[in-house]
Amino acid sequence: MCGIVGYIGKKQAAPILLEGLTKLEYRGYDSAGVAVLGENGKVQMAKAQGKLEVLKNKIDGGKALKGTCGIGHTRWATHGVPNETNAHPHCNDGMTIVAVHNGIIENYAELKAKLIRRGYTFYSETDTEVATKLVDYYYNKYNDPMLAISNFALRVRGSYALAVLFSDYPAQIYAIRKDSPMVIGVTDNECFIASDVPALLKYTKSVYYIENYQIAHLKEGCAAFYNIDREKIELPLTEITWDAKAAEKDGYEHYMLKEIHEQPAVVRNTVNYLLHDGYIDFSELKLSDNVLEEISGITIAGCGSAYHAGVVMQYVIEDLARIPVRVELASEYRYRNPVTSGKELVILISQSGETADTIAALREAKDRGLKTLAIVNVLGSTIAREADFVLYTKAGPEISVATTKAYSAQLVAGYLIAIKLAEVRKTVTAQYAEKLKTELGLLPEKIQKILCDQIAIQQFGAETMNKKDVFFIGRGIDYAVSIEGSLKLKEISYIHSEAYAAGELKHGTISLIEDGTLVFGVLTQDKLIEKTVSNLVETSSRKAQLAAIASEGVKLPEDCKNVFTIPCTDVHFTASLAVIPLQLYAYYLCVAKGNNVDKPRNLAKSVTVE
Ligand code: GLU
Repeated sequence: MCGIVGYIGKKQAAPILLEGLTKLEYRGYDSAGVAVLGENGKVQMAKAQGKLEVLKNKIDGGKALKGTCGIGHTRWATHGVPNETNAHPHCNDGMTIVAVHNGIIENYAELKAKLIRRGYTFYSETDTEVATKLVDYYYNKYNDPMLAISNFALRVRGSYALAVLFSDYPAQIYAIRKDSPMVIGVTDNECFIASDVPALLKYTKSVYYIENYQIAHLKEGCAAFYNIDREKIELPLTEITWDAKAAEKDGYEHYMLKEIHEQPAVVRNTVNYLLHDGYIDFSELKLSDNVLEEISGITIAGCGSAYHAGVVMQYVIEDLARIPVRVELASEYRYRNPVTSGKELVILISQSGETADTIAALREAKDRGLKTLAIVNVLGSTIAREADFVLYTKAGPEISVATTKAYSAQLVAGYLIAIKLAEVRKTVTAQYAEKLKTELGLLPEKIQKILCDQIAIQQFGAETMNKKDVFFIGRGIDYAVSIEGSLKLKEISYIHSEAYAAGELKHGTISLIEDGTLVFGVLTQDKLIEKTVSNLVETSSRKAQLAAIASEGVKLPEDCKNVFTIPCTDVHFTASLAVIPLQLYAYYLCVAKGNNVDKPRNLAKSVTVE
């Protein structure tokens, strides 16, 4: 689930590997390690528990490991506690085969028992050591790295991005993947491996995406690819459009703050990508009007914030396009045996395009013969490659684990789909469609306005940092954005929070309201504001402290002292504005508490395990 890097070229490998791992730090990890093949074919290895800094100090920033070919890893422990022994790389007893691995080998226990019977000894608790020794077993049997790797792949169940060094083959790296991301970068005389693009951006933007069960064989400046039957295959070279600077902090204290501030541009870029001269053009998505006309319903699947974006989309699409929409947690969809008419469009939302549960939902939908549309941010990611249609959000690299700009871009993608559907299915008048499109174009400056005026929310974040419970309530789209505000707060502040459809509170949860419990009302939906205000008053009667995110002009109860106003927009788009103060609130509260904003505990950026 965490970071893999590999380098082979003319430069010293270890410093480049460490730098690549630094770029992947945002994904969250608990230990790290590198292995380099020296000129004599001898493997040198270093590992450390904790921050990369510890590893860097141990090997003098990489200078201590001589050699121009190596692999590195940041581990997010799944099998075995985070310690140095369990950290990757893992190797065979002779240290002639060394590997790093992301993912989970599901049948590791059975394989381990077999290998023990064949005389292998294990020193760590990891599934990765089992994977490495399985490769060793097949290498001893066949004396051929490619056969060792393909047999490994046939024998294991689970997910893996695996990079292996064989000391018999100095200056070469072998790699294979299944259901864990891996990208291969190339220059004229170098090859790189990375589990995510930011690790490569400084060196190259020319990359190959390898598919499940494809093997990469890398030498200096030469990347060759094979299928599981060891037949040579050609993969297309893709040019990444992100630049290295887009993955830097650029003067901001945290990536999260930088990414919050990028939202006007991200929204503008996503709108401009598909809206040309008043026309929503889906030709690049390969999504024809016919498909949109013929579908009988929509299912949206995602996890975390992507799921929350789906909940907003449900309100917007149903209201504008009058087509039934279900929103599903991707992790449930595949196990629910969904009833389908065979004519639904399934929309999969994932920033990374590598979210394991969302990939599983996509495959489930395809198995059921349904058309699939991916809304993803990462070019060439698994979901993008496997879905029938792809809408790329133009958020650029998102580093902070707690998503902000990718969520905003997903919302806009949803609005564009809703308006397009409404036009094709003729459920709105041409004038109203025009009005909606004009309003979409105005969202970036309205977001900017909120960002320029954030002192009050900053102070409120600091003032309320010791709260034990924070509630967010709203109705309709205000509820949909409340669940995202609540998640943001939980993710980075570790404060317990709930989001409730405001009308639901009195059906149970109001019993949790105590003296001083903070209740945020989100009030942007004209027709529902009075009702949510009543629900707020119900909580203040039970001594809750009230706060509100409200559109300009909304009248609030007197005891609601902390009101954060957002500009008015069309009722369908208010989530894009209301979410900004909610993100800022979570951010500043987290900063006040001194938590690790960009890398909250226990979380990983892209969740590539089930
Ligand atoms: N399952 C492996 C382990 O626990 C790899 C974890 C990862 O993806 O970082 O060591």
